[in-house]
Amino acid sequence: ATRPGATSREAATHCPYCALQCGMTLRETDGRTEVLPRQFPTNRGGLCQKGWTAAELLDHPERLTTPLVRDPVTGEQRPASWDEALDRVAAGIRTVQSGHGRDAVAVFGGGGLTNEKAYALGKFARVALRTRHIDYNGRWCMSSAAAAGIRAFGVDRGLPFPLEDLARAETLLLVGANPAETMPPLLRHLTDQRQRGGRLIVIDPRVTATARQADLHLQPLPGTDLAVANALLHIALTEGWLDREYLATRTTGFDAVRRTVAGYWPAEVERLSGVPVADLEATARALATAGSAIILTARGAEQHAKGVDTVTAFVNLALALGLPGRPGSGYGCLTGQGNGQGGREHGQKADQLPGYRKIDDPAARAHVAGVWGVPADDLPGPGVPAYRLLDSLGTPDGPRALLVFGSNPVVSAPRAARIESRLRDLDLLVVADFLRSETAALADVVLPVAQWAEEDGTMTNLEGRVLRRRALREPPPGVRTDLAVLAGLATRLDAPVDFPTDPRTVFTELRRASAGGPADYAGVTWDRIDAASGVFWPCPDPDGPDTPRLFADRFPTPDGRARFHPVTHRPAAEEVCADYPLHFTTGRVLAQYQSGTQTRRVAALRRAAPGAFVELHPDLAARLGVTDGEEVRVVSRRGELRAPARVSPTIRPDTVFAPFHWAGAARANSVTNDAVDPVSGMPEFKICAVRVERVES
Ligand code: SF4
Repeated sequence: ATRPGATSREAATHCPYCALQCGMTLRETDGRTEVLPRQFPTNRGGLCQKGWTAAELLDHPERLTTPLVRDPVTGEQRPASWDEALDRVAAGIRTVQSGHGRDAVAVFGGGGLTNEKAYALGKFARVALRTRHIDYNGRWCMSSAAAAGIRAFGVDRGLPFPLEDLARAETLLLVGANPAETMPPLLRHLTDQRQRGGRLIVIDPRVTATARQADLHLQPLPGTDLAVANALLHIALTEGWLDREYLATRTTGFDAVRRTVAGYWPAEVERLSGVPVADLEATARALATAGSAIILTARGAEQHAKGVDTVTAFVNLALALGLPGRPGSGYGCLTGQGNGQGGREHGQKADQLPGYRKIDDPAARAHVAGVWGVPADDLPGPGVPAYRLLDSLGTPDGPRALLVFGSNPVVSAPRAARIESRLRDLDLLVVADFLRSETAALADVVLPVAQWAEEDGTMTNLEGRVLRRRALREPPPGVRTDLAVLAGLATRLDAPVDFPTDPRTVFTELRRASAGGPADYAGVTWDRIDAASGVFWPCPDPDGPDTPRLFADRFPTPDGRARFHPVTHRPAAEEVCADYPLHFTTGRVLAQYQSGTQTRRVAALRRAAPGAFVELHPDLAARLGVTDGEEVRVVSRRGELRAPARVSPTIRPDTVFAPFHWAGAARANSVTNDAVDPVSGMPEFKICAVRVERVES
């Protein structure tokens, strides 16, 4: 309760972290800001630890409130005025582009940026810099599911139905998803599902907090999910459980898939994956004989060099059972980052323009160029996916300058030591952030930008629901919004068009740019979002309906049918051997988020999860002579990480796990493999070959 006489203000907004975008109220009373949970369809009044503590960063002592520039004499970063910092960035861009061409400057965005920022960043790259090199860290989040969704359904929306549909599924299959740790309030929907008599099946190499709640847990060898999916379809085919009418009327291409999965004998797949035939059969039966069933994938299935094909295998299974478009049924992807969905719709992806349009489509280029007020021929062509872009920095053929907005690739990139050295080789590195991340520490110029509670905007959550992020207060003195940063740079670079700084104005332009595209926001207005619990795209008409559920009658493909693609198992890019005999996999923990730039600085979260660890099975620990809590070294061909051992039967004896939130010696991505999926560009974060050694004291 607010004490009498206190001055108080509130903003109904959403959590700054993950794609669940839990509703919260921010209340400031006499200068003290607190988080209150808010009823919203995704979280239904719940928040996780990260959400509860999100306000702590607003007044954090490490908050950046003045630009920093690297002094050429001392080599150290020092405070600077905004004019000096922006002049230095603009001069650096001009020097690099005049010497090496427009593509010598690159932009790297983030899946936490609002829709308005993601849109403005894509426009800035293509219109002010005229570079083809822009991509973002969402490439490492859900790009494999996005690519699989587009090739099967003709569109990529993480969940093509609202979360509330989960409760209607008689069988729910989670593949490589651990929402009990990554987005705990989502469990309220799973609890509903169970209370209605539904079954939960989890596929995960670890006995996660989510797997512990499952009726059935399949614990395959990392990298064998695709074979497991094909075996499930093999069983459904053999048992005559397919939806023949759906196959005939709503899909194309099943014959090739039928021929492929015919070879995935359950006994063979048991040998490959370690999943018993009986569990494969029980899973296939539970999916096929249920009145309604949903299959959800997340990073465990997707972050592989065969991630697109792995997701496709589960999409094939869903289609063969006639699930997509049926009430309480379907396939979906649990997107990770707060605006992972919107971040990929508005043009910060190397191959896309706003509205999810393809950048090499002449009609799309003409439409977007018309909205931007520039000739279509002036727009650059497609760039390259995130890892390829970062790995080319500073090389003879790669960009020589990089502008980073809302991302920390020094910690989050695969084979991170190599990317760190690429960043050090640049002529110019600019980072816009509100904390001095490990990437910002390397920058020539650091630009302090506003936080989520200090500016308005929109986010698009994992359901494709467009939400309003509402400001509680102004940014502190010395801090600017990302939109103001882009406008300031655009002016200095003599950009041919304006870059508005008012997010509502930017959103109005975004709506026009997206109109007619697959992700059509033309009918989404801020007022309309305010009047409801968000608006689902596509929504082409301000007076027409939005689209909570897709695929009820047709798929957005040329013939209206979903498309099967045959996919086959192949080994991980790096297999175990005598020198590196163990599989290594990475993931998240409840109290930390992504590269940890924010959550590592929150006291309560630091107490809950103070540092990295290496999870290994008691049998493996005994073989290595490692005791619980003892520091160990995980070594791959690319580097090593050091952290205390956490000895636990929750992991397979042939596999070790580490969370990826920490930097320095505990950086898990020093170890990970930079092999990427040929279609999506997704790196193989989830499996590589390592050995574990004791660290002698
Ligand atoms: Fe924030 Fe995600 Fe936690 Fe919800 S589940 S409070 S959106 S981090």
